[in-house]
Amino acid sequence: MLARPNTMWRWRELLPVRDELHIVTLAEGGTPMLHAPHLGRQLGLPNLYIKDEGRNPTGTFKARGIGLAVSRAVELGVRGFVIPTAGNAGGALAAYAARAGLAAHVFMPVGAPPSNQNEVKMAGAFLHLVQGLISDAGRESAAMAHASGLFDVSTLKEPYRLEGKKTMGFEIALDLGWQLPDVILYPTGGGTGLIGIWKAFDEMEQLGWIGARSARRPRMVCVQAAGCAPMVKAFQEGRDHCEFFAGAQTQAAGLRVPKPLGDRLILRTIRESNGTAVGVADEEMMAARGMIAAAEGIQACLEGAATVAALQKLLASGWVKSDERVVCLNTGTGLKDPV
Ligand SMILES: *Cc1c(COP(=O)(O)O)cnc(C)c1O
Repeated sequence: MLARPNTMWRWRELLPVRDELHIVTLAEGGTPMLHAPHLGRQLGLPNLYIKDEGRNPTGTFKARGIGLAVSRAVELGVRGFVIPTAGNAGGALAAYAARAGLAAHVFMPVGAPPSNQNEVKMAGAFLHLVQGLISDAGRESAAMAHASGLFDVSTLKEPYRLEGKKTMGFEIALDLGWQLPDVILYPTGGGTGLIGIWKAFDEMEQLGWIGARSARRPRMVCVQAAGCAPMVKAFQEGRDHCEFFAGAQTQAAGLRVPKPLGDRLILRTIRESNGTAVGVADEEMMAARGMIAAAEGIQACLEGAATVAALQKLLASGWVKSDERVVCLNTGTGLKDPV
């Protein structure tokens, strides 16, 4: 497996595409796990790592989920796709649909970042701009899927994107020499990666690659924007599901999801892992973004920077200890969304 090219397809026996001939790839996955010693020194945490998902095709980890979903859709004979998106998933879908030679209809809020609107149009997909939030885009794309028979690639409405994102879990273990970290911080919109990484740990345990859960599993931290924090609210209130977060507002487009479809799975993952949920203000994300770039030369997206902002709070409260090994996921490149 490790002799294969370093992409997410090196784990293909653990992925749902049956025939390799159907794989549509731009070499997604296999991103670097960067030790962050300078930032770690500033925070008082020597064992700080940033997994830099900004190195993926289309500049974000959405390439993993969408690459897998498009490949499986090709295998199943799908004619084309619809997707509601805050931006990056639409960009990824446009790219992979182009590579597969299939049509894609991308439904984005009018306020979505210009870089995302451009990448969709450049790749020849149909861009539908929708008034409102991703939830409104979801209604319109579902209507189109219903009327046209095209495949709806909405987060967690189909099973395959999660399978692509779970490969981050395999890589985290491999990158750290099969010793799982103590804590993983994940910027949560729809929550696919959080749930997917947790699933990867279960699968690795079943394969005997890592010890039983009673041994050590990372505590999973769900990081959200304070201006759109349905999961943080539900976690703090001890609920098993979330309410629609009214008046959702944040610059971090990937976190602007007022009611994730996978709310129950997200909450279950946080609790099973003894994790927690943290909200951070946009200003804290911006400050963290500057810190990461100045200390380590890594251009993080706002969502990725949110994990470092949350980490600062968790260190201050003592929830994370200074001798723990911590992985922050930088889910996309900051170059796509300049400040
Ligand atoms: C989509 C996205 C997220 C959130 O991912 P989910 O799996 O939907 O929770 C975080 N960061 C970036 C850059 C994104 O594009």
